[in-house]
Amino acid sequence: MKNKTQLPDKFGYFGLFGGRYAPETLMELLMGLEKEFYKIKKDKTFRKEFEFYLKEYAGRPTNLYLAKRLSAHLKTLKIYLKREDLLHTGAHKINNTLGQIIVARRMGKTRIIAETGAGQHGVATATVAALFGLKCVVYMGSEDVRRQSLNVFRMKLLGAEVISVESGSKTLKDAMNEAVRDWVTNVQDTFYIIGSVAGFHPYPVMVRTFQSVIGQEARRQFLAQEKRLPDYLVACVGGGSNAMGLFHPFYNDRQVKMIGVEAAGHGIHTHAHSATLTKGQVGILHGSKSMLLQDKDGQVQIAHSVAAGLDYPGVGPEHSYYQSSGRAEYVSVDDKGAIEGLRLLSRTEGIIPALESAHAIYYLEKLAHRVKGKAFIIVCLSGRGDKDMNQISQWI
Ligand SMILES: *Cc1c(COP(=O)(O)O)cnc(C)c1O
Repeated sequence: MKNKTQLPDKFGYFGLFGGRYAPETLMELLMGLEKEFYKIKKDKTFRKEFEFYLKEYAGRPTNLYLAKRLSAHLKTLKIYLKREDLLHTGAHKINNTLGQIIVARRMGKTRIIAETGAGQHGVATATVAALFGLKCVVYMGSEDVRRQSLNVFRMKLLGAEVISVESGSKTLKDAMNEAVRDWVTNVQDTFYIIGSVAGFHPYPVMVRTFQSVIGQEARRQFLAQEKRLPDYLVACVGGGSNAMGLFHPFYNDRQVKMIGVEAAGHGIHTHAHSATLTKGQVGILHGSKSMLLQDKDGQVQIAHSVAAGLDYPGVGPEHSYYQSSGRAEYVSVDDKGAIEGLRLLSRTEGIIPALESAHAIYYLEKLAHRVKGKAFIIVCLSGRGDKDMNQISQWI
């Protein structure tokens, strides 16, 4: 079959990756959600409602901005920035939480739960729950609650209840377990919003569907401006949703190369990084099979990145598939590089990127030396840097 955009298959697999590794109690729930999602996705009134909120509430379409001074600085690249940083709440996450909460409403659910690590997905979820007046509970490891107090404050201000999880390592993976437990207990009225292209089937395909608006717009905008397709797409990869959102609509454009940039943290030869595709092995996390950072006993490793949103030991299964099939390439940039990327974009374009997106920006310096002649690039600017100012001022 030529058109691989048809994946996942009916069991939720992208090649060897994906699936639904869930306890019996959850199976029925996930299959029900899958059925509903595929039905709703085709529904015209759903699409209209989703498009309405993307436009009127979130601020779409976002600009595809030609970064002239950055391009001049790098000489061999003509760089366009897909400005997800201009969205309401300052990052791409709102595309997905809007999509999922509209699905939840269609299914008659009145209570929303989510888990969050750094708090960015929690804030995006609390935002849309407030928008629709639904009850919202966010699970967060107590260690993260302590580290990310500003985001905890934001979520509470938005009316969400934040439950601090004391078990295990007191971080994201423990918060995930608690969220799943809650879901199983409160099936009747509760919808679980997952924040990236990860998790049990149908979440990876559902989140991809909602984030694909990034690539659909970018493709159209690029064609209108350049009358051709780009040579490269570049995006940072945590769980992989902004990257998949940009990549997927270009899947069948074989001449368009895709580069995902992971966080190398203190370096990929240390234990303090989040470079899952670069350094991980196949494993199961959050109900799907994908690449995973784990020790030799199969225990999930604690990831590290200066960018809180990239600090995740897993990655969405579709990226593992793209890597194994060679459709996309995955590289890594360390903490220091990310800070340099942030300074570079700030000074050349007057745009302070999120530390996550700054990984992708820094990689352009490397890419500039790799290309022959001149190359056309789209970079996903996944978020703005305001949230990171405290942390960066400590570094600098
Ligand atoms: C959460 C976040 C990311 C990482 O998540 P993906 O699912 O990999 O996109 C990247 N950039 C920003 C600004 C984020 O908030």
